Formats: sequence, C-alpha cells, structure tokens
Amino acid sequence: MTIEQEYIDRHPGSRTLAERAAAVLPSGVTHDSRYLRPFLIYAERADGAYKWDVDGHRYIDYVVGHGALLLGHNHPVVTAAVHQQLARGTHYGASHELEIAWAEEVVRIVPAAEVVRFTSSGTEATLMALRLARAATGRPAIVKFERHFHGWHDYVVPASSYAGRTPPGIPESTLDSVIVLPPNLEAVEAAFAERSDIGAVIVEAPGASSGQIPLPPGFLQGLQTLVNHNRAVVIMDEVVSGFRWAPGGVHQLEGVQPDLVTLAKILAGGLPGGAVAGRRDLLAYLQFPGQGSRSEKVGHPGTFNANPLSAAAGVACLRHIADGSHQQRAASLAATLRAGMNRILHELAIPAVVYGQSSAFRVHLAAPQPPEPRDYDGRELPRTLLEAPVPPEPARLLQLALLNHGVQLFGTGGMLSSAHTEADIAATLDAWRHALLALLEEGHVRPA
Ligand code: PLP
Repeated sequence: MTIEQEYIDRHPGSRTLAERAAAVLPSGVTHDSRYLRPFLIYAERADGAYKWDVDGHRYIDYVVGHGALLLGHNHPVVTAAVHQQLARGTHYGASHELEIAWAEEVVRIVPAAEVVRFTSSGTEATLMALRLARAATGRPAIVKFERHFHGWHDYVVPASSYAGRTPPGIPESTLDSVIVLPPNLEAVEAAFAERSDIGAVIVEAPGASSGQIPLPPGFLQGLQTLVNHNRAVVIMDEVVSGFRWAPGGVHQLEGVQPDLVTLAKILAGGLPGGAVAGRRDLLAYLQFPGQGSRSEKVGHPGTFNANPLSAAAGVACLRHIADGSHQQRAASLAATLRAGMNRILHELAIPAVVYGQSSAFRVHLAAPQPPEPRDYDGRELPRTLLEAPVPPEPARLLQLALLNHGVQLFGTGGMLSSAHTEADIAATLDAWRHALLALLEEGHVRPA
C-alpha cells in the first residue's frame, strides 16, 4: 500500500472533517502551514509532548503550538493559572494587575526590554515595532532580509519565507517602502548610502525562518553598530527565539542590545499574545502627551491586548522558564534527535540532512550527499544548500509517512518542548527509519 493510501485509510475521521471544512474554510484550513494534501489530521486533545487525533492515534508533537509551548501541552503551572483567571473573568475592559506582572517578567528576563507594550500576536508586534521606528526617525522606509519571516502584515510579506517579492494584495506604494536585502553588512551599508529615508531594519534574530538559514557570525553586532550609526532603529524579531534560544533570547546569547525586540509565542504561555519591548524613549511614542494634541502619539488600540487569560498564562510560564533549564533540556534533546536522524540518513545513504539551532530542527531533503552521523547547527552547511528549495512532493510524503508512524512534524521541521523525553526521541527515530524506508520504496528519495 502507498504512503498516501495508508494515511487516508488510517484517518477516516479527519477525512470527514476535512470535507466538512472545505465548504466553509478556504482550502479547509485556518493557517497556511496547516495545509497538507490530502488533508491534515484533526486534533482532539493534547498533553505534554503528545497530541491525539479524532481517529484515536497518538502523535509525538513537534509543532508544539507553532513553537509557543516550550513546556509542552497543558503544563500544570500554566493551566492552574489559566483556570484561576477563568473563574475571575476573561476580559475586564480595564487595566489589571496581571498585565503589570507580565511586563515586569519581560523586563526582568529580556535584556533589551526597558518597557513593554502588549499586542495580540507576533504579527501585530512587528507592525507596531516598525511604526514606532518610523515615528521616532521620521523616515518611512524599512529594510528586511530575504526569507526572514515577521508575520503577515503588508510590510513584512515581501520576500518572506512563504512569499515572493511581489505577493498579491499588497499596494505598490507599500512595497516601495520595503527594501529587501541579503543578510550581509555591505548590502545594508550600501542601502543607507543610497537612500536617506530608511528608519528601521528588522531581522529574525536566529536567522531566516527560525534559524533555518543562520546569520553570519557577528552579523547582529555589526548590524546594530551600522544601523545606529545611520540613526535608524534595529528591530530584532525574537517571536520564535525569545524565551527559547535562552530565557532572554538570541540577543542575550550574542550580547547585543537591539533598540526594539518583538516577542510572542512562549511569551503568552500558549495563549494568544505578543509584545514590543525595548528602549524607553522609543516606546514613549505610545505615551499620551502631557499637553498638546493626541495625534502626536502613536496610536495603539487592540481589544485583546494583555488579555487577562493570556497574561495569567504568560506570567506563570515566564516565571517557570526564567532559569534556563527548560530551554537547555529541550535543546539537548533536539541535538540528540538531529544527530540520530542524521545517523539513519547516513546508514541508508540518503542525500539529505537534518540540522538546527537550539531546540529547533529542519529536514533538508536536497543535500548533494548523505550527512555525517552527527548533529549540525547549519552554520557548517553551504548557503547554497540551505537556500535550495526542498522538493515539495517528497516533503509532503515524508510528513504523511511520519504521521502514519505517530510523529507530527511542523512542515519539514519542528521544535521540541521540555516535556519531550529520551523515550520520545527513540520512538521518533524508529518512526523516522520506517518513514524513510517507505519513501525509498516508493522512489521519492534515492540512495546516493
Ligand atoms: N515573527 C516570527 C519570527 C515568526 O516566526 C512569527 C510566526 O511564526 C511571527 C513573527 C508572527 O507571529 P504570529 O503568528 O503570532 O502573528
């Protein structure tokens, strides 16, 4: 039986729901990355490192809430805080103490955070960060880097990980104010020499697509110096890496002090939420003037900003992960997983490689040769390989084959939580071997 037929046969409940969804949801999904042919599993519940689908199958989960669940699903510390808050109300339409405690945790943990403004998502956080930078500098243009992902608002979509340079639906006038560059300092320097209207440079702190294309060594430090020399603002996007690469994120590890940092995901403990944090003088543009016109400030409403449930989960989560032990555990399990996956690729002589930083990993199915049986963080791999597209059909069937064996990837990669165990890694490697053998048998990958 083919991988795809086995998948269809194993998931009648998900298939039925996918058919129902197709009538009312475009492509049947609510997030582009959840689109998978013939259909993606429908989850029924989740706990720790696992989720269960409507057909009763258990999966080792490497989506972990799109990276939001460093502690795994339903961590008792977080669920207790949410339950407690639930009984007290879900939306006050008023200020509340938890939002102060939440901001205090961010300021305590994140080196660049002098003050914080909460948003409802990472997308809103990058939108607000760019607006603050423009307000402060009076310059409308922004620089972003090729393949760097900052959410889905108009300014950051061009040349993101999922869209080309001119995606539909975005006005030309917006695109004119977005300069897309390769991540090298010479290119940034040349852009500042050429244009005097650049107010901000936004960068994914771990490199494009959660570190799938790592930045050159010293890049963030060099960028900070160069951009500040040109009196513009550096925004480090730590929506994924914040609280995961280290409690204080990549900028803490690298010893750089960005002007603004954007946060989400782990920030809110698995509930919706985001934030812009950074220099007091920049966030001061949000402040109401003591006198004068309201229009001088940067406006920022938002019905769900610092929602009490998200704040409760966020405070509980941040307090629990501040000492760095959960990050270390997830990262060390990820290193074991990456090395084990490469060992099996090596044994089966499959030209592909698994690599990643911190607790993230990515499967690249288009390597010129099989990997060494060890861990790679990506910096030692050629850029041409990292940037080469992953062949879509093998990537799709790899996901289906792994789902058939009880493992859910996030696209062709994933992240770990501290709830994953050594036994989960062993079971994943077993599933990986079975999935690769099935792909070999169907000719979707070939031995070198
Ligand atoms: N920035 C980065 C680096 C991200 O990875 C994401 C989402 O994955 C975002 C911004 C957007 O966050 P959200 O999905 O909460 O809007």
